[in-house]
Amino acid sequence: MSIPIHSEVTPEQRRALATEKLDQFFATVPPELKARVVALPKRIGQMNAKVAIKLHEVLKTADEIFDYAGKYAACTRGCGHCCHVHVPIADFEAQFIATRVGIKPVSLQRSIPHNRLEYSGATPCPFLKNGECSIYDARPLTCRMHLNFDVDAYWCLHENWNKPDAEIPRPDITPLMEAYHLLAGKAKPVVADIRDFFPHGTQDR
Ligand code: SF4
Ligand code: SF4
Repeated sequence: MSIPIHSEVTPEQRRALATEKLDQFFATVPPELKARVVALPKRIGQMNAKVAIKLHEVLKTADEIFDYAGKYAACTRGCGHCCHVHVPIADFEAQFIATRVGIKPVSLQRSIPHNRLEYSGATPCPFLKNGECSIYDARPLTCRMHLNFDVDAYWCLHENWNKPDAEIPRPDITPLMEAYHLLAGKAKPVVADIRDFFPHGTQDR
C-alpha cells in the first residue's frame, strides 16, 4: 500500500511538524513508563536470566512506549519502504527470531559490515511478504524503532534516501539501544544484516 505524498509540504514545514509531533508524543508517554525506559539498561544489566528473556523484556518495553506513537507517526500497515533498508541484528537476536519462528539462522563466524548504499527498492527483507512483515511479533528491535513522524513516507521513499537532507524524524529512545547492547554480556556479538542470517526468510523452516 502506498501512502499519498504531500508534495506541497516543504522540507522545512515537514521538520517543524515532525518536531511538534515528537514533542506531543513524549508528552503523552506516562511518567511511570518513561522512568521504566530510562531504568531499563540497569534492570537488564542486573537480570539473572537467559538472553532471550532479557531481549523479550527490551522488545516489550519498546512496544509499550511506541504504542503511544501510533497517532503521530506516518507509518501504516503495508507501507514497507523501511523493510528494504539495512536491518542490522546481533546473533542473539537472530537466534531469538529463529526460535520464535521455527527456522534456522546461518551460523556466521564474524560480523559482516554493510553500507546503506547497498540497499534499494530491490532489496526487500526476506520476511516481507505481500507488503507486510511475516514475523511481526518476532521482528527485531531496529524494526520496532523504525517510525517516521513526518506527515507521510516522503523520506522513506527509495528515491529520497540519499538526498543530502534526508533524515527520517523519529523518537530517539537511547536506553532501548543501551539495553540491547548489554544483552551479549562480555561476549562480542556477531552483527550482520537480517538477510545474512536468514537469506530465504521463512522458507528455511
Ligand atoms: S518508517 Fe517509513 S516506510 Fe516504514 S512504515 Fe513508517 S512511513 Fe512507511
Ligand atoms: S523483519 Fe519484518 S519489519 Fe523488519 S525489515 Fe523484515 S519485514 Fe520489515
